Amino acid sequence: MTATIIRTVAEVRKAVGDARRAGLRIGFVPTMGALHEGHASLIREAAAETGFAIASVFVNPTQFGPNEDFAKYPRQLEADRLICESAGAKLVFAPSPEEMYPKGFATHVDIAGLGDHLCGRSRPGHFRGVCTVVTKLLNIVAPDISYFGQKDAQQARIIQQFVEDLNIPGEVKILPTHREADGLAMSSRNRYLSESQRRNAKVLSHALRLADELYQNGERTSKAIRNQLEEMISKIPEARIDYMEMVDAKTLQPVERIDNRTLLALAVYFGTTRLIDNTFLG
Ligand code: AMP
Repeated sequence: MTATIIRTVAEVRKAVGDARRAGLRIGFVPTMGALHEGHASLIREAAAETGFAIASVFVNPTQFGPNEDFAKYPRQLEADRLICESAGAKLVFAPSPEEMYPKGFATHVDIAGLGDHLCGRSRPGHFRGVCTVVTKLLNIVAPDISYFGQKDAQQARIIQQFVEDLNIPGEVKILPTHREADGLAMSSRNRYLSESQRRNAKVLSHALRLADELYQNGERTSKAIRNQLEEMISKIPEARIDYMEMVDAKTLQPVERIDNRTLLALAVYFGTTRLIDNTFLG
C-alpha cells in the first residue's frame, strides 16, 4: 500500500473520518522528517497496533531558536514518504507553515516547571513551540494512540503532562531509543557530524553505560556520577558538554541523590552539532 502525502487539515480530517467509519483505529507519529530507523520503529508500532497509521512531517519553525538550525534542517519529503510507506503508514501529513500558522494565529501552549531545566534552559522557547505544535497536531489528527520516542525524554514527559492537563483524548505511548551499532542514538542531526565527530559521538552512549555501571555498583550521589562522566567526555576531541543532569523522572527537578527513578539526560556539542541522549537510573 502506498503512503499518500496530504497537505491540509481538511484532508486529514476527511481521511481520519473515512478510516473511523471503516472501523479502524488511528495511530499517529509526529516527526520533523529526515526520517531514520528510530522514526520507522514508531511508525511500525503505530501500524501494528492500530489499523491506520499516520505520520506527520513538519519542521516546526516555532520550536527553533533564532540561532538554531531551522534553515538547514534536512528536508527530504519523498525519501521520508518511502520510509513511512515501508513502515506501514497510510498517510503522511506534510503541512506548510501557513497551513499550521495562518495569518492571525495567536494562541500558544506553555508548560510550567517541566520545561525549565535541561533542553529548556539551553533552548528558551523550545518547549512552548513543541507544546503548541503537538497540541495542534493531536487536535487535527485526533488519534487513538500517539507515539513518541524516549530519545527526547524531556519532550516525552512534557507531552504526557500536557495531554493529561488539557484532557486531550487518546493514549500517549513512549517507545525506546533506537541506536546505531556503536550505541549512538539515531537522530536526524547525526548527518551534520564530520567523520571524526561521528566516531567520537559514541562517547555519549558509553557515558550512559558508565553511569549505569556506577549505579549498579552502589553509587547514589549525582555529583560523583557526573564527575566521572565529565572526565570521560572531556577526553574526547571536539566534545563540549552543554548539560548533564540527573533529575527526578516525573518532576524533572535535579536530584542530589538517586533514591527514586531518575533520568540522566545529557546534551553535548560536537563542533556546532548538539546531540542529546538519556537513560534511567533507579
Ligand atoms: P523528530 O523528528 O526528531 O522530532 O522526532 C520525531 C519523533 O521520533 C519524536 O517522538 C522522537 O522522540 C522520536 N525519535 C527520534 N529519534 C529517535 C530514536 N533514535 N529512537 C526512537 N525514537 C526516536
